[in-house]
Amino acid sequence: MLTQVVFPKAGVAGWPIAHSRSPVIHGFWLKTLGIAGAYERFEVRPGEFDKFARLIGHDGLVGVNVTAPHKGSAFAACDRHTAVAAALKAVNTLWRKDGLLWGDNTDVEGFLANMDATVPGWSSGSDSAIVIGAGGAARAVVYALASRGFRRIAIVNRTHAKAVALAGEFSDVAVAAPWETLSAELPRGNLLVNASSLGMIGQPPLEIEVDALRRGSVVSDIVYVPLRTSMVKSARARGLQEVEGLGMLLHQAVPAFERWFGRRPEVTPALRSLIEADILAADEERR
Ligand code: NAP
Repeated sequence: MLTQVVFPKAGVAGWPIAHSRSPVIHGFWLKTLGIAGAYERFEVRPGEFDKFARLIGHDGLVGVNVTAPHKGSAFAACDRHTAVAAALKAVNTLWRKDGLLWGDNTDVEGFLANMDATVPGWSSGSDSAIVIGAGGAARAVVYALASRGFRRIAIVNRTHAKAVALAGEFSDVAVAAPWETLSAELPRGNLLVNASSLGMIGQPPLEIEVDALRRGSVVSDIVYVPLRTSMVKSARARGLQEVEGLGMLLHQAVPAFERWFGRRPEVTPALRSLIEADILAADEERR
């Protein structure tokens, strides 16, 4: 009798989903590690996430990444959460174990791994940060910085009430600073992170004078389209240590791949070049 072999399959669920670079990242690892599996895009309409989540763990679907607008619905659909996902109340990675749907949020690990790889030792001796933004990504960044022992994290956001709410979740270390005080905050920190959408292609620029930062400060932008934002360029021009956002995207994919396919992949220069070329090609197309 012939037995049908079911290859493991994962994917990314969102709406819209055509822009996602996750299939290129996971496809690269499947190929280079010689794993017979697949990674697809799943277009899931708002309101239909619960129905979709029930498919996970069946017919070879080992798990999915979750992107906008479903990170909250994914959190709600889970039977169990990792400690990070429970703290962030948002899930970007799902899998099923012993019949239960599990959810993790790998943005924290992605942010930290990118910082560690780009500026080794960045968090030892640094204890004061300024974070721009108070959305989902900023929540992950603040959690990450708190986990590395930062003692003062100033959250600066266009909508001050959201900064106040986020600071309230990390009240031991975080404070909300009004948008108008951003320049005045800069000399107080040794790390500046842009976790807002400002500076992204199609969004207004992030106008900021990084000169006001202390010498030796680190400037990190999690925006990766364009690959080098104007904030990163001005930090480089002024001799500050800068961190680009693409590495976070690559590193956040590592734990998800390992969970689904059982091998820990690496973020290599070849993978980075592949994704950079993909982003540049999309940019050309837009022009
Ligand atoms: P989000 O939840 O929608 O939050 C967007 C943030 O940007 C909010 O704080 C918002 O302020 C602020 N913002 C938007 N337009 C603004 C404007 N015109 N002026 C001032 N502030 C503005 O989005 P998110 O998920 O946190 O993502 C934020 C950025 O991070 C995106 O560019 C995303 O691509 C990037 N990201 C990168 C990675 C990576 O792996 N590198 C991972 C996740 C996210 P208000 O509260 O006032 O609206």
